Amino acid sequence: MSEHASMYPWPQGKTSAAFISIDVDADTPMLWRQRAAPQPKYLSEMEQRQYGLRAGIANLVAVLGRHGVQATFFVPGLVAARNPELLPGLLENGHEVGLHGFAHEATRDISTSEFGEALERSLAVFVAQTGRKPDGFRAPGWELTRDMHALLGRHGLYDSSLAGHDHPYTLDGVTELPISWSREDTTRFKITGLDARWAPTSPVVVLEEWLFDWEACAQAGGLFTLTLHDWVSGRPAPLRVLDALLARIRQDETAWIATGAELAAHDRRLPPDARASVVSTRD
Ligand SMILES: [Zn+2]
Repeated sequence: MSEHASMYPWPQGKTSAAFISIDVDADTPMLWRQRAAPQPKYLSEMEQRQYGLRAGIANLVAVLGRHGVQATFFVPGLVAARNPELLPGLLENGHEVGLHGFAHEATRDISTSEFGEALERSLAVFVAQTGRKPDGFRAPGWELTRDMHALLGRHGLYDSSLAGHDHPYTLDGVTELPISWSREDTTRFKITGLDARWAPTSPVVVLEEWLFDWEACAQAGGLFTLTLHDWVSGRPAPLRVLDALLARIRQDETAWIATGAELAAHDRRLPPDARASVVSTRD
């Protein structure tokens, strides 16, 4: 069992890794919140969110393309079903597509069987549109119960919703690509109205923060998972943050920039004694 991040065996002489992930939420979290209403009444947040599909995703794909970086886009089944060109387009650009609930169901609002139904419905959409089963899953809101987590394992999916290590690990038999709230854009940039709980952070500050975080993570030999959202980070100033961050990471030849599927496959190929394998704490 590896207790230190620096002990994690990255491939081909690499000593750290970066995982660029984009959650294509579009309007689904808002629709889920307002699911009891016949239709959303107000336009303000809806229009902010529509920006992602109108422009944000294409902008993000363009910046990634300039750096030759392949990312993983986690897409709710409903967003894919309503935009049938989305998944094939992302795959054509060399990116990975992964699952992110069907209607971006908040996992605290649903039962295990509802979670399972959303997973099956999403898998059907992904298989119909791309011809294959996706490799990975990310939970809306980064929350899961043990039973939901076990269902991911039964489907052979990797998960990227939890944060129990600085590098890939196996939790209760499921490959985990750890996330981080400190490398996430909505807590910095997302303001949907006057009732916002915080002011937007300057992109200049966020860039400095993420560069600092990258350097600390790389030195510790860990996995730097960045989580962006189509409608938040697809705008000009946050795009510059991504552009500068990728330029910095790419300067480091010992950094492996990989998709979730590549990271999970690497971790699963490691001999059992080189893998960080843990069981969740139980009462
Ligand atoms: Zn989401």
